[in-house]
Amino acid sequence: MRIFGVTGWKNAGKTGLMERLVAEITARGFSVSTVKHAHHSFDVDHPGKDSHRHRIAGAREVMLASRARVALMQELRDADGPPLETLLARLTPVDLVLVEGYKRDRHPKVEAHRAAAGNPLIAPDDPTILAVASDVPLTLDRPVFDLDDTAAVADFILRKVGLQRGAPDAVPPLRNDCFALPPGVHWTPVDEALALLRDRLHVVTKVETVAVAQALGRVCAADVHATRANPPLPNTAVDGYGFAGARGPGAHMLPLVSGRAAAGDAPGAVPGGHAIRVLTGAALPRGVDTVILQEDVTVVDGTLRFDGAVKQGANTRKAGEDVRADQIVLAAGTRIGPAEIALLAASGVAALALRKPLKVGVISTGDELVEMGDDARDGQIFDANRPMLLGLIAQFGHHPVDLGRVADDRAALRVRLDQAAQDVDVILTSGGASAGDEDHVSALLTEAGAMQLWRIAVKPGRPLALGLWDGVPVFGLPGNPVAAMVCTLIFARPALGLLAGLGWQQAQGFDVPAAFEKRKKPGRREYLRARIRDGQAEVFASEGSGRISGLAWAEGLVELPEDARDIRPGDTVRFLPYGSFGA
Ligand code: AMP
Ligand code: MG
Repeated sequence: MRIFGVTGWKNAGKTGLMERLVAEITARGFSVSTVKHAHHSFDVDHPGKDSHRHRIAGAREVMLASRARVALMQELRDADGPPLETLLARLTPVDLVLVEGYKRDRHPKVEAHRAAAGNPLIAPDDPTILAVASDVPLTLDRPVFDLDDTAAVADFILRKVGLQRGAPDAVPPLRNDCFALPPGVHWTPVDEALALLRDRLHVVTKVETVAVAQALGRVCAADVHATRANPPLPNTAVDGYGFAGARGPGAHMLPLVSGRAAAGDAPGAVPGGHAIRVLTGAALPRGVDTVILQEDVTVVDGTLRFDGAVKQGANTRKAGEDVRADQIVLAAGTRIGPAEIALLAASGVAALALRKPLKVGVISTGDELVEMGDDARDGQIFDANRPMLLGLIAQFGHHPVDLGRVADDRAALRVRLDQAAQDVDVILTSGGASAGDEDHVSALLTEAGAMQLWRIAVKPGRPLALGLWDGVPVFGLPGNPVAAMVCTLIFARPALGLLAGLGWQQAQGFDVPAAFEKRKKPGRREYLRARIRDGQAEVFASEGSGRISGLAWAEGLVELPEDARDIRPGDTVRFLPYGSFGA
């Protein structure tokens, strides 16, 4: 159980600080219990009460219960009272136990200090006091907080016990004009469109504390500090024999002490001039700083023999050489994968502040659409965008929410958007985003007064309708599946990353020779469906933006910059694998 103490002399403000810390830390969503060391003359029971009579009559334990609370009284025969550990073991598990008093116990503490009370500080002589909360400024070798700055003291305690401080839970709303384009712009270059999104969007997901074991795939809401060094103590990297100091060239003999140091053993001590058997991962005993491999020695009659030279520190790992205590191990915005889980575990972090998953709703629009598996009449097509977009969102590591299909019917679409805005953090629609009669997405967003039609100088691409619906951002993607997918990868993905707290994500590509020929007009960026074969980029034969087969044939996109002209085989082009758009 995580425990932190509040100590201090009488009238130093201990109980007030405890009270404020309990309120502050529970308000941040952590469960807190307390242990209070009462004065020796204080009794929890009162003569004349029924419980007192039970007790005096000889009951071992008396459970006193009312509707509001329950107290378990245990009769103590031990004059000193039970040690703190015994008391802690009786508590129901919680995130943090705050302990008032128990000054002499070794748990970490903060000292409350009030100058007017006239007492000296305890801290300088007590290494278990990690910080002081004082009503006057002090110069000390450890942090000093204002006695009334409860938030700062709580931050410190939470960090020290490994309950990382969450970012503030309240996220500011997006501005209504967040998608506004500079006036007079007709065609927006891709990089300008991306820069606008990057400037205007910010994280919208809330923060929660989650156990590391449940954190896979989630996003850190705040920097995560190590609560412990890794390795925590210097240890041996190999099986062998440990002793102190370097040995020069030539033959060496050292008497072996009995016993051995194995992984998990508490470090013992080895006298000077002696050696000890050590096994990989064992903390180095005191008096040992160098290890020689077992393959390089002989042991005869309790004496270790080997030939030098051996450098001081050979075959050992220094304490903290991997991670220093309190070091930032993961930055805010990091997505947690298996490697990050290992790092958190090794750094002593058991729970941390994470962003809730970004809920991304997907709606398809169009009278022509039917659900896959249903009967399609002449003139109808299967809705391909919605399952594709739901899949992309899952690959980006967000939480996809299927909001279904809507016909080209403004009233129905309005109802669907109203519902969606209650349930999700962001909405992707496809179809109906241009400025035609049946383009109801753009019409509704325009009506709502928060719509912008982005004409981006990109192929494939149609206008993107961007807007806020009840404060929820809506990305009105083109209906065309190829354009819908490319626009999602290039524009929606980084935008969703910002909303999810991941920061700005850039797909990492690489340069390869083209295996194709293409005529291109300058002034517009193009993305071609492509794949790598024999180290060269091939592109799909047809650029038709209705050709879903090309999306599936491809394994990524070739990105041709605005100023590129005709491409000939062998020219260098940039390839962005689909995988680089992953989580
Ligand atoms: P729109 O943007 O609504 O004018 O649609 C452009 C083209 O994309 C039309 O040919 C639509 O039939 C097609 N389309 C729209 N939505 C989808 C969808 N969900 N799945 C497949 N094709 C679609
Ligand atoms: Mg349509």
